[in-house]
Amino acid sequence: METWSLFALSADLPLGEQCVLDECEDIIMTEPFAIRHVSIVTGDETGTVVPGQTVLVGENGTIEWVGEDADIAVPSGYNRLDASGKYLTPGLINAHVHVFGSGKPLSQALLSPRADAITSAFLHSHVGSAYMKRLARGFLQTELLSGVTSLRTVGDTGYETVELASEFDSGESVGPRMLASGPLMAVTGGHGSPKVTMTSDSPWEARRNVRQSLRAGVTAIKIAATAGVTDARRLGEAGRPQMTLEEMAAICDEAHSAGLIVAAHAQSREGVMRALRAGVDTIEHGSSLTDEMIELFLHNPASLRGYTALIPTMIAALPLVRLPQSVTGITDIVHANAAAVSAEMESGLKTALAAGVVVGVGTDASCTYVTQYGTWRELDVMHRFGGMGAAAVLHAATQVNAQILGLADVTGSITAGKSADMVLLTKNPLDGSAAAEADESANFRAFEQPEAVIVRGRVLLHPRIERLAEIDAQLDTL
Ligand SMILES: [Zn+2]
Repeated sequence: METWSLFALSADLPLGEQCVLDECEDIIMTEPFAIRHVSIVTGDETGTVVPGQTVLVGENGTIEWVGEDADIAVPSGYNRLDASGKYLTPGLINAHVHVFGSGKPLSQALLSPRADAITSAFLHSHVGSAYMKRLARGFLQTELLSGVTSLRTVGDTGYETVELASEFDSGESVGPRMLASGPLMAVTGGHGSPKVTMTSDSPWEARRNVRQSLRAGVTAIKIAATAGVTDARRLGEAGRPQMTLEEMAAICDEAHSAGLIVAAHAQSREGVMRALRAGVDTIEHGSSLTDEMIELFLHNPASLRGYTALIPTMIAALPLVRLPQSVTGITDIVHANAAAVSAEMESGLKTALAAGVVVGVGTDASCTYVTQYGTWRELDVMHRFGGMGAAAVLHAATQVNAQILGLADVTGSITAGKSADMVLLTKNPLDGSAAAEADESANFRAFEQPEAVIVRGRVLLHPRIERLAEIDAQLDTL
């Protein structure tokens, strides 16, 4: 049995280097262990923080016991982590991740149809897919090191995420718990094609694509109901409906039969409405909402669990709208489309919250200015621009996301019986100031540099994350 002190260790570990998880140098404490004297930020709706807590984690990486320091004698043979003055939150869950990019703006030259075809041919070659798998592994580990212990991918170049998810599950290497979608289902020429899609032009072709993905082992399905901001070439094109109701209903039917949820990229009223009617389980990005749409979010008979959730991804649009084009390098068309989509998204989020729609959290990591380590920024903008209380935002990024992704029995809260998926912080993320509830202020930046990330009971102490300094500086101005 050893006792670990966070303060003592922090002096020994070099900072500012890329953490290489495969070398396991950051896994300094193994199960079973006890985290002592910690304040638990539970992630409940009201923002409960309980000081003086002990958490016991068993050999299988499961939380065995949570309670008052005084109520437990730590069994012999358990490592101990003295976390006095620290805060422990449930691991964050990111419901909207891509693993093909770092968040650096894409060169506009790459968006021409010819460049698109060449890139796509490379990505789907043997060499290309091996390269993408290596990239994906690094990005997924970056998500983990920044406190994201579970995530869903929603549009991959191939099935690299399926392979990585099972590697992480088996303990072969350390990574987040994942729902992996594989390629995005789109129509010919649709959003994301040809780089990250499987295309189809009829309900039966769409079913065949889902079956192919199921055979490859995916654990979620993603569809492009409408066009998107990043690849729209004309003004007003971003939310244009692309997939028919019949095609989407066929995909949902096929996915739901296998127990999988379906996410729909949808950025206009018409597109969102069609996707809701088809029975999708999550609307990604969203639009302004009518009463009829709200009714379908709340009670959706064609969905897997009887309701549809909204995942707004505000951080994917706000920087494109608010930062100067000279900085982001986007075209006038992308800027105008982003502005329209962003306004619709914000309106949809506010209406959804007021109506009691289930709202989750996702970042759209890989897109321009959406880094793999910046999940906390989505929490921050949902709070500051989306009108959500700080406690509600953390609740959405933990317990609500777990429920949406069907992981609530396994993760999402610090509860005995669940996987030990937690983040240890030096500051309380819900405590930005002493302001009263109505105008409560948050400090989600506390997640920027976690003291430790714990996934399935493995403790990654002082995770070192390679950051994009220029992008961070720009995002800090938002
Ligand atoms: Zn996306």
